Amino acid sequence: MIDPFGRHISYLRVSVTDRCDFRCVYCMAEDMTFLPKAEVLSLEELERLCGAFIRRGVKKLRLTGGEPLVRKNVMSLFRGLGKHLDSGALEELTLTTNGSQLAKYAKELAAIGVRRVNVSMDTLDPDKFRELTRWGDLDQVMRGLDAAQQAGLHIKINAVALRGVNDMEFGELIRFSHGRGMDLVLIEVMPMGEIGADARLDQYLPLSLARAEIARHFTLTETDYRTGGPARYFKVEETGGRLGFITPLTHNFCESCNRVRLTCTGTLYMCLGQEDAADLRGPLRASESDEILDQAITAAIARKPKGHDFVIDRRHTGPAVPRHMSVTGG
Ligand code: SAM
Ligand code: SF4
Repeated sequence: MIDPFGRHISYLRVSVTDRCDFRCVYCMAEDMTFLPKAEVLSLEELERLCGAFIRRGVKKLRLTGGEPLVRKNVMSLFRGLGKHLDSGALEELTLTTNGSQLAKYAKELAAIGVRRVNVSMDTLDPDKFRELTRWGDLDQVMRGLDAAQQAGLHIKINAVALRGVNDMEFGELIRFSHGRGMDLVLIEVMPMGEIGADARLDQYLPLSLARAEIARHFTLTETDYRTGGPARYFKVEETGGRLGFITPLTHNFCESCNRVRLTCTGTLYMCLGQEDAADLRGPLRASESDEILDQAITAAIARKPKGHDFVIDRRHTGPAVPRHMSVTGG
């Protein structure tokens, strides 16, 4: 699949549920309304949709959400998709998780062929963790990390950089992650979904500033290491570990975008930061053969926009797009 700007689309991210057992302050409002179950695709339908993308050249597939591991029976979807790893059609199957259920599922994920997981963890302070996630328990996530490492999964820690909340902890997060052989990636907060007046402006910390501050304490050497995502990686000489920065606001990386995102209702977003989307649920259900679905996918890729327009400043405190990150999956 090649889009109008010549970009090869080889990466599909699938939000398997919009629900979550946490309510992170930058991601969700406390009183979220979730989709009625009837609108959500069955796991079998999601598997068929993913299969259609793999046939069209998707090599890397990431399950996300909401929290992917809280979807009932989600392991059956992982098992189904794992067969494409066995056949060689798919190169990588992975997930982004808050870690709360990893202790339960890490071994099975590894057995299916998952090699890497992204675990979101913004702070090492249990009280702050509870405040940030509203409902989360840091100990439970730590047990998840232990289980994942015992199962042989390579872990990347994702931390959203939040001004005045975790910016004083970056050094500690670097030492903790690298001390356990895990990569750390810092992410700029993105203006997605209504979370309360002015909250976003308070939270936003440009990573250019964070990097300068980190560089006062650590030696950062630029690397050309890529994981197929937008992160730019540095080697931290003192720890020998990798530190990545995802900077959708201070540095736009859309020119190398290789991905599209599918929601649990079968809506395909060709860009995280734009409203345009294609319904694939209708075409999926219209016929048992994939012909109509294939046509809909082709038409959608032909509409992939050039990039996002995220801005956070005093004139732009509201969301750039009204949907929350948990709908499209981060
Ligand atoms: N529940 C899983 C988790 O937390 O990893 C997967 C879904 S979550 C939406 C994916 C990632 O998006 C997480 O790393 C989260 O921190 C990040 N995220 C959520 N809202 C965000 C926002 N407004 N700006 C930047 N990152 C955000
Ligand atoms: Fe849930 Fe992940 Fe959003 Fe936090 S960031 S509320 S864990 S979906």
